[in-house]
Amino acid sequence: MPVLVMKFGGTSVANLDRIRRAAKRVGVEVAKGYDVIVIVSAMSGKTNELVGWVDEVSPLHDAREYDAIVSSGENVTAGLMALTLQEMNVEARSWQGWQVPLKTNSTHSAARIDDIPTDNISAKFADGMRVAVVAGFQGVSPENRITTLGRGGSDTTAVAFAAAFDAVRCDIYTDVDGVYTTDPRITDKARKLDKIAFEEMLELASLGAKVLQTRSVELAMRFNVKLRVLSSFEEQSDSAGTLVCAEEEIMEQNVVSGIAYSRDEAKMTLVSIADRPGIAAAIFVPLSEAGVNVDMIIQNISEEGRTDMTFSCPVDQVARAQKALSDAKDSGDINFHDLIADTDVSKVSAVGIGMRSQSGVAAKMFKVLSDEGVNIKVIATSEIKISVLIDRKYMELAVQSLHDAFELEKLAT
Ligand code: ADP
Ligand code: ASP
Ligand code: MG
Repeated sequence: MPVLVMKFGGTSVANLDRIRRAAKRVGVEVAKGYDVIVIVSAMSGKTNELVGWVDEVSPLHDAREYDAIVSSGENVTAGLMALTLQEMNVEARSWQGWQVPLKTNSTHSAARIDDIPTDNISAKFADGMRVAVVAGFQGVSPENRITTLGRGGSDTTAVAFAAAFDAVRCDIYTDVDGVYTTDPRITDKARKLDKIAFEEMLELASLGAKVLQTRSVELAMRFNVKLRVLSSFEEQSDSAGTLVCAEEEIMEQNVVSGIAYSRDEAKMTLVSIADRPGIAAAIFVPLSEAGVNVDMIIQNISEEGRTDMTFSCPVDQVARAQKALSDAKDSGDINFHDLIADTDVSKVSAVGIGMRSQSGVAAKMFKVLSDEGVNIKVIATSEIKISVLIDRKYMELAVQSLHDAFELEKLAT
């Protein structure tokens, strides 16, 4: 039988009623003849609650215990979904990550998937089971410890299963009916895209559009998984939602296809460091070893052999960054006069494949922000994106005015 992967996010399994509703959708696909692999998230809010408990008990926690705790929300929904399906007379059972086993590396809280052996679940399908319900977000390390794939990681579990089982499609059911030109919570002018290219989705996701986890898009692109994002609250149809697909499947590329934002960023500045060969490594190696995800970096012009270095990272990693840098200072590897953390900044980005062939997008973006009186603190660009770091209080205004300026409400794909 052809295999279909259906992933239900937190809001789609938020309570028993919603689990029933999701199970009914699964039942429809089973009736069409698919063997279905259902990937579930924790009930909405659950993972945040678990993370909150971890932070309260131990702010600079042991990541192995973090994973043991925050992975547990998915165990509950996997079991409940299997039971609900059984009540509907659909043959189903649940799997936790380690039972599959979904094998990952040992990078706790941001583990990468190494392998998903299919024999276990395939044998059950061959025996007549119709639905395998798998707890998303979690796996097992070579040391036999529970790992998690990073926040939003159930999307990645879903795509990885679709690739491993050569599924006909991977449907991501969520609380919006597709991928929009920007987060529909920020402006009601946001428009749903019928199709979006893998590369654009990859940029939007990595720049903060949390509708899909970045790794899931990477995997879908690499294994050519047919990936669809759709609402678990609307009518079921084969053409609903947004298809994430190869660039060639989209007739006309937009100069800008979407605006993404990442609300909780921090800008860190090391004041007066020696401008010498090896200084960047001396700063960023300890940060990376401490698990800090450094994003934008600028080094200022040096004066009398000293310079300032600025970088951005997620705001919840500031304490880690401060500790790593002060440890490096104590051990004499680097020296700086001051470390300033500006924790009130957000990143706003414009993304579009059409930027490759059209100039002037950056200039337009800066002009729009300047007209709104928004000061740009850091700029980063790549072939298909421009990102700026700005004060958090201007974030929504910046997203809305860029969405207007690039006329995204008129976009049709
Ligand atoms: P789930 O719990 O189903 O995984 P998420 O909350 O992770 O859902 O992702 C869905 C949310 O992503 C939407 O509610 C929306 O607010 C947000 N979002 C951000 N950017 C976009 C975008 N460009 N298109 C659609 N949704 C977006
Ligand atoms: N429950 C996890 C989270 O909230 C994984 C997911 O929902 O994708 O991050
Ligand atoms: Mg999600």
